[in-house]
Amino acid sequence: MPAIMNNVATPTYLRFFAPNCSYCGLNIDSNPDGSARAGPDQAVLACSEHAALAKRDARAYMHERGIVERWDVLQDPVFEALGFNKDRISWKGEPLKNLTVKRSSGALEVGWSFLHISSCHDPLNLQRNDEGHWFMPAAGPGGITKRIRVDEFTLSLPEDKHHLVAAFVERLNTIYKADAEAHAAAAKPVDDAAADTTSATAVKTNA
Ligand SMILES: [Zn+2]
Repeated sequence: MPAIMNNVATPTYLRFFAPNCSYCGLNIDSNPDGSARAGPDQAVLACSEHAALAKRDARAYMHERGIVERWDVLQDPVFEALGFNKDRISWKGEPLKNLTVKRSSGALEVGWSFLHISSCHDPLNLQRNDEGHWFMPAAGPGGITKRIRVDEFTLSLPEDKHHLVAAFVERLNTIYKADAEAHAAAAKPVDDAAADTTSATAVKTNA
């Protein structure tokens, strides 16, 4: 097995990519079990030996960009309180339609469910916008789809369950935080070396 060449990696688009481990360079055509997805069309490519690093770096990438894979949070008590279970909001089974959603007009509409079929254009991940609000894809009566705000899950819950929504938002903000910190720590020596080179060059130029 080759020695590690890279400590960290950035997800690559899954189109025209070189099929090599991001860390050791091993061709992974025949050893694809290590790669970790970072959204619907990106992944950190890795051999099975470097699978843990790939997962860490994919999660660090998602933490920075405000993406959470729904599979990582499906067991949260907020979904149970909403009447959904793991199977109901995943690929299988008919989704329950008991969400209340605020439409763009401000009107409240009942009969919505979480989207359970994914495409490149409608990924099932939760995503954070620039204002810091988290969104989850949902489907309404008549087949309309839109991303609904996670903090508006309260519209579908009695007041004594609203604390679950706040806790869920906090979980979304922090679920990959440890991976992001580990990624930053692993990347740091490379940054320091680059900074040293830069300052040495600057001194030389001034002299
Ligand atoms: Zn490797």
